[in-house]
Amino acid sequence: MKHNQSKLIRTQIKQTEQGEHSTPMYLTSSFTFDNAEEMRAAFADESDDNIYSRFSNPNVNEFVDRLCVLEKAEDGFATASGMSAVFGSFMALLKKGDHILSCNSIFGSTHTVISKYLPKYGIDFSYVSANATAEEWNAAIQPNTKMIYLETPTNPGLEVIDIAMVSTIAKKHNVILNVDNCFATPIGQTPIDLGADLVVHSATKWIDGQGRVLGGAIVGRKDLIHDIYLFCRSTGPSLSAFNAWVLSKSLETLEVRMERHCSNALFLAEKLQGHANINFVKYPFLTTHPHYAIAKKQMTNGGGIICFEIKGGIEAGRKFLDHLKMLSLTANLGDTRSIASHPASTTHAKLSEAERQAVSITPGLIRISCGLEHREDILADIIQALEA
Ligand SMILES: *Cc1c(COP(=O)(O)O)cnc(C)c1O
Repeated sequence: MKHNQSKLIRTQIKQTEQGEHSTPMYLTSSFTFDNAEEMRAAFADESDDNIYSRFSNPNVNEFVDRLCVLEKAEDGFATASGMSAVFGSFMALLKKGDHILSCNSIFGSTHTVISKYLPKYGIDFSYVSANATAEEWNAAIQPNTKMIYLETPTNPGLEVIDIAMVSTIAKKHNVILNVDNCFATPIGQTPIDLGADLVVHSATKWIDGQGRVLGGAIVGRKDLIHDIYLFCRSTGPSLSAFNAWVLSKSLETLEVRMERHCSNALFLAEKLQGHANINFVKYPFLTTHPHYAIAKKQMTNGGGIICFEIKGGIEAGRKFLDHLKMLSLTANLGDTRSIASHPASTTHAKLSEAERQAVSITPGLIRISCGLEHREDILADIIQALEA
């Protein structure tokens, strides 16, 4: 098979003697052995036999194998949520005295882990702006820097960071490059092709795509994944077999779903640009996006999220949400149903105005996760709420 999409769909765990076409669910905590020698070999890592579902499980293995096909990764480990993937990738590879360098606009809980919890374990951090040049990234590297962490496009500011540029710097200093690829998905960009060592995912978002289950994964270099596997099999953030079964099925349709999510997003971004009640629209594939050239270089589509700034600040943002008739108000993103959120009054309400500005969250910023409803219906709901 020449194409990854075919390879992904045809990557399946071994059929049972029932000859089932669709992978069954393996809801079992542990696996049995025929004799003492088989059991000894499994525990000694001399065989690939499943032992216990905290370590591995057939459904989880299938999900990981399929994600590795899409991300072009050597190996991976699946976790119970995106945050346990992020946290596991830090805790398995960083130790007391190390330093992590990250872009400053990152998912809220990732920011909390880096700035509040890592220091408790003696791991130092610093941030650079998503607009930083190669010189600025280079200057921010310290003698004890072990990992560079990127999120691109960022949530919710939709800033785009040049992965190849940062990877050149990471390689020069022998630092691990870890990229959160949740927003673009492997359909929109493959960070490993651009030099990343690790890719982390919240599978809860576009990978599930239907707002059903939590999940996460870390994929990338085999040696690093082995350390992450050893850490996670002892500490227990493992993905459940049921969630893995759901997510593995979801990967089969990720490409066709993302094509529609992204074409809806581009349509909305273009239609909303210039509206009298909007200051600006932000979408990586709009020529007006400050990082348009980087987005075009490293992404095959602009993603399923658009942002716009409504005139009138915080109050106008809250009013807009109240006037929506079809779009959902909810914390998730990457669903079949379109979702609107207002970061300044919700997810980022605890930050000061200046802190929000630093990560591109202006008072009237609205984030839309473009669903799979007809694009004209999504647009009509947004327009009537803007004009209400
Ligand atoms: C949601 C999200 C996460 C965390 O994922 P969970 O599955 O909610 O734990 C991490 N990074 C980004 C960019 C996200 O949007």
